[in-house]
Amino acid sequence: MDHIKLKPKEEIEKSFFHIPFWIAPDKHLFLSRSERFTKLAKLEKSDWKLYLQLLAGLSRVQHGLLADADAVVPELKRNETASMLNVHNTPIPSCFTPMLHALYERIKGELSDHMEQTWQRLLAMPVPDQEALARRLLQHEADVTDQEYSIWVHAVLQVIWTYWAMQLQETDVPSRDERVQCPCCGSDAVASIVLKSGEQENLRYLHCNLCNSRWNALRAKCTFCGNTKDMTLQSVEGVTEGALHGASGETCDVCQGYRKMFSLSKEQHADPVADDLGSLALDMMLGEKGYSRGGANPFLMMEKEVPH
Ligand SMILES: [Zn+2]
Ligand SMILES: [Zn+2]
Repeated sequence: MDHIKLKPKEEIEKSFFHIPFWIAPDKHLFLSRSERFTKLAKLEKSDWKLYLQLLAGLSRVQHGLLADADAVVPELKRNETASMLNVHNTPIPSCFTPMLHALYERIKGELSDHMEQTWQRLLAMPVPDQEALARRLLQHEADVTDQEYSIWVHAVLQVIWTYWAMQLQETDVPSRDERVQCPCCGSDAVASIVLKSGEQENLRYLHCNLCNSRWNALRAKCTFCGNTKDMTLQSVEGVTEGALHGASGETCDVCQGYRKMFSLSKEQHADPVADDLGSLALDMMLGEKGYSRGGANPFLMMEKEVPH
């Protein structure tokens, strides 16, 4: 007869009540995002649906690139862990250009003529210029002429950084007070997500726009200026399905900023990147009320940064 070793009481309580500060990206993340983009495209009435369909295809290709990343992306070396991922001190890895070519090969059937021309210019650049472009885009130093390459370059960078973040353990990413930037890579959060199931019920996590990490942040506290008074959730009324159903803007009357929040109990398949692009009516509503958007989405072309 096997002896079952019981865990000490403290350990059981610790695991039951444990709230992870950091949650690693799921390996099926890009596939789920692709399915979500497809669903949101179906619900969209305007021509914006074409862009959502394109991003569904792009996310599907990202899933394939991530699945093949073992063979091309250098593994993280232990001891370097989270600090190695910081966008401010990590060089663009040499796998960037081959992955850019691989992305093109897999997406080229879905491109418009205009996009095809953009791609030809991008692929014709010397490798050092491609890497310099990637660095400018990562560090928000891009100029106007860089913007047309932005979604393709970001798509590859997301795969590389997500692959790295997936290799980290929870203990590699210690909790800290500063929660505006991603604790792994230093990038901005695209939005927050309120979890619904299991032990993290109702907790709010910010979602990284680059490495797809999630990190815990207090609800009802401004993620820009730290204000905890009079934070308000505002949403578009009368919507029963799709991104706007689960979306609200958390507005702060101290810094006049807002960040979007998506509730998984309302929309269980919400993805912060996809649902952000499916809920632009909320941005318009809050913009008209004088609030400035915070939370960069690399696939959103006309984003504004909250001054802080
Ligand atoms: Zn990150
Ligand atoms: Zn604020």
